[in-house]
Amino acid sequence: MPFADLGLSDPLLRAVAEAGYDEPTPIQKGTIPPVLMGKDIIGIAQTGTGKTAAFVLPMIDILGEGRSRARMPRSLILEPTRELAAQVAENFEKYGKYHKLSMALLIGGVQMGDQVKALEKGVDVLIATPGRLMDLYGRGKILLTGCSLLVIDEADRMLDMGFIPDIEEICSRLPKTRQTLLFSATMPPPIKKLADKFLTDPKQIEASRPASANLNIEQRLIITTSAKKRDVLRDVLRHAEVRNAIVFSNRKTTVRDLATSLKKSGFKVGQIHGDMEQAERIAEFDRFKDGSITILVASDVAARGLDVKGVSHVVNFDVPWQPDDYVHRIGRRGRAGLTGIAITLATKEDAEAVAAIEKLTNTKIA
Ligand code: AMP
Repeated sequence: MPFADLGLSDPLLRAVAEAGYDEPTPIQKGTIPPVLMGKDIIGIAQTGTGKTAAFVLPMIDILGEGRSRARMPRSLILEPTRELAAQVAENFEKYGKYHKLSMALLIGGVQMGDQVKALEKGVDVLIATPGRLMDLYGRGKILLTGCSLLVIDEADRMLDMGFIPDIEEICSRLPKTRQTLLFSATMPPPIKKLADKFLTDPKQIEASRPASANLNIEQRLIITTSAKKRDVLRDVLRHAEVRNAIVFSNRKTTVRDLATSLKKSGFKVGQIHGDMEQAERIAEFDRFKDGSITILVASDVAARGLDVKGVSHVVNFDVPWQPDDYVHRIGRRGRAGLTGIAITLATKEDAEAVAAIEKLTNTKIA
């Protein structure tokens, strides 16, 4: 099915074609037509399935009609992390280039002044992390009564991060007659409950199971010991086929230590972890994207959702504690037809965690 059959406007189709996409992904096929018809949606899809465009594209056409009013955003997108919020904003810019939509981004760790000014003028799209939004709302800077379209993205991650009470509060401040789209990689009971409470007769769309999104990734497991892990990592990274790599670790202290030790070994290394300011993280990520550094050491939350096209390798220095995190880490690789290699370093103690990952992804890691 081509994009043209989904009911999107011509200017939007032009922007999509210029982005280089030939065909909608399954979540886009399933989501775009009912969203355009005004339906509530539960989208079970993880990063890498094209889910961002699945809500951004129809939103652009819906918001293309009508006008914004001062301090009353017309739509709200909630994201768990600053990085994801920034990425959604980029998507609006990319696909919305033939529409005149105004947008504001409310995320922690960046200066608020310009964003507040934008809000005061009125915006069509407000993209926010729950904490920062509640903060401004509490200070009377935003009215949510004009917000008739709500997206709750990565709901399961919001749950992990303790944002559910904030989201409930936000939902209860929005107009009752609104359209709500909820996306989540998994549907644990608290998310199901949230959906029951705040969505009206939603249509549920499930993109391919988390793991099948990553089938074009070659996965490898290296069994080692804690003492030898660093040497093994260096060997892996020195391999000629490694053009660039993201190295994941479970702890931010390990992120720092690894970055320092790899630097000493002569690698061009950067790091991102949760303690860094947003601006620092973005700067580091930009250095990775432009090739000034070839190795990026990262923690899960900090790296969540980064759109790293063209990374040749993902190395898990630690086996993630949550099997979901494994899919998220390597999910960064296989999107949009790219192929790559994911290498996981594991010790005997990790046997259980590895088994949980293999069960979730339904594949045996070679
Ligand atoms: P997401 O799941 O939203 O994080 O998107 C994953 C990646 O897929 C992004 O890099 C998008 O640019 C890309 N993408 C989104 N839609 C399509 C499409 N229809 N065809 C090819 N790539 C796409």
